[in-house]
Amino acid sequence: MEMTLGSSASEESARRAPHRALTEAEDLSVDLMQNAGSTPKALILFGPPGSGKGTQAKLLKETLSIPHISTGDMLRERIASDDSLGLQLKELMHAGRLVPDDVVNRLVEERISLPDCSGGFILDGYPRTHQQAEVLDRRLHERGFEPVVIHLKVDYTKVIARIAGRRQCPVCGTLYSLTSNPPRNPEFCDLDGAALVIRDDDRESVIRERLEAYERQTRPVLDFFAASGAAVHEVDGHEGSPQEILHRIRSVMGWE
Ligand code: ADP
Repeated sequence: MEMTLGSSASEESARRAPHRALTEAEDLSVDLMQNAGSTPKALILFGPPGSGKGTQAKLLKETLSIPHISTGDMLRERIASDDSLGLQLKELMHAGRLVPDDVVNRLVEERISLPDCSGGFILDGYPRTHQQAEVLDRRLHERGFEPVVIHLKVDYTKVIARIAGRRQCPVCGTLYSLTSNPPRNPEFCDLDGAALVIRDDDRESVIRERLEAYERQTRPVLDFFAASGAAVHEVDGHEGSPQEILHRIRSVMGWE
């Protein structure tokens, strides 16, 4: 495989190696370093809300040592600043609707220009409209990144159940699922003990609105990438644990 990575992955593995056995994630990053090629990739995680994009993005970030860029997380941070744009975003997001293209396009463009993205990066939740896909595709070509789409396929009954059981740590961002990846105590984060929260837009009426927005505005983006000649990989995100789904991604990417 051809994933260009910065030197930080090997330095980090080397620094940690004497202290404990390598995890599966670190094993993969060693493989990737051995096979590093020349074209940095933009890995685009695609799928409906609740398909596991955020979970897989975090696992891939560990295995590849490249940044994880979540537009949902960036927008939630933006909301915290409480100015008039923040308030507009909050209203749209809490209703399960998409925020305007130019807002997210600008956030992503700024983020991928930072030096830590030069060896590739993972996009989670972007692009979500045809216009975002066109803008991204242009930027990637200008900057010499190859788009690779990983489409996590799940059915909607599963998505609704998954989202309803989703909890997040407001401090470190760790995601839990009360069914498939529960914290030791259902109310607190395993890592820092903070009280877990349910996102406002994870309530059932809003979930349906988000799924409709996905069907109407986001799903057609797959056709855009297929027509543009980008690699589009289909992965079953429905059955199995997050680690099993990660394995499927690794195998379609030729990383094992
Ligand atoms: P999920 O993938 O589970 O829907 P996200 O955290 O990715 O969750 O997104 C939460 C909300 O943030 C979306 O419902 C939408 O309002 C907004 N959002 C995130 N990414 C985008 C985007 N690329 N374009 C427009 N709105 C977005």
